[in-house]
Amino acid sequence: MAKGGVMVTGGAGFIGAHVCRKLLEELGHPVICLDNLSTGSVDNLADLLANPDFTFVEHDITHPIPEDVPKCLYILNLACPGSPVFLQRDKEKAILTSILGLRNVLRFAITSRSETVFQASTGAVYGDPEVTPQRESYPGRVNPVGPLACYEEGKRAAEALCLAYREQCGIRVKIGRLFNTYGPGMHLNAGTVVANFLTQALRGQPLTVYGDGRQIRTFCYIDDMVDGILRLAMDTPGEFTGPLNLGSDVEVSIRELAEIVLEVTAAKSEIRTLPASAGTARLRRPEIGLAKQQLGWEPTTGLQEGLEKTAAYFRTVLETSAET
Ligand code: UDP
Repeated sequence: MAKGGVMVTGGAGFIGAHVCRKLLEELGHPVICLDNLSTGSVDNLADLLANPDFTFVEHDITHPIPEDVPKCLYILNLACPGSPVFLQRDKEKAILTSILGLRNVLRFAITSRSETVFQASTGAVYGDPEVTPQRESYPGRVNPVGPLACYEEGKRAAEALCLAYREQCGIRVKIGRLFNTYGPGMHLNAGTVVANFLTQALRGQPLTVYGDGRQIRTFCYIDDMVDGILRLAMDTPGEFTGPLNLGSDVEVSIRELAEIVLEVTAAKSEIRTLPASAGTARLRRPEIGLAKQQLGWEPTTGLQEGLEKTAAYFRTVLETSAET
């Protein structure tokens, strides 16, 4: 029997495209990808477009999902601009995509009798935390009028909306809080730290460390993240909603990351200190015990290995763009 169809909103984005590929090529599910192409690109899906089990629909989820879009057993909601450059470009869009977009996804799930909705939340719901690592029970410390509020508060409200629909409409939801993720296919110009450092190193430009560089992050390789997302969305018991942290728990300071990038790329660039970016969290590191317990999952790709693979991808993209 054919496996159930999966809708991936935001499927043309970095994480979404990897999710679509794994669903189709490894797990054998038909996939419908919805994306408004505001930050994603069909180039990310070029190898999938000819697959008869893959459908791409250009659609912005802040508008109701058209009724003629085929029903799907699962809906994975990955649509939302999250990286600094995209967020700054249109904050209203970010918050509306998180809330109104999710509402449209949940309503579509009800009318199309989908079994499960996976909501891509974020480690940013913890804001600028006073505790580390952050466990799911930690409520976070977010400034509702801070520079990143449209993203942080939008994603927090989205979690609340998921629970409201579960309670009021009986819909099965799974909330994954995704922490910093990197890998081939990521956007070179999104302003995220891995993308900036790799492009700078490969171009022989200074690596820009914002602030003192002592802010802590963890970086999860894309294959590990996709594996975690799909396990949470498809393999957990129906009553398990989360939220569940997904990310690496290996701490790196931003200055250390700059040094590792220089080593991996063998670049001779200097490290340049620039003013801290407004509203940036000092500490972000997930406690992933719940993911280990519920999914039997933890990241397996080390930072060095992941950065080597990502650098190889960046080299190809930079060379190709230099030729054209
Ligand atoms: N950052 C940096 N240089 C850059 C880009 C980012 O020092 O060129 C810093 C940024 O201020 C933040 C950290 O790296 O403290 C991670 O930034 P990113 O936007 O990648 O992720 P997030 O802050 O959402 O975790």
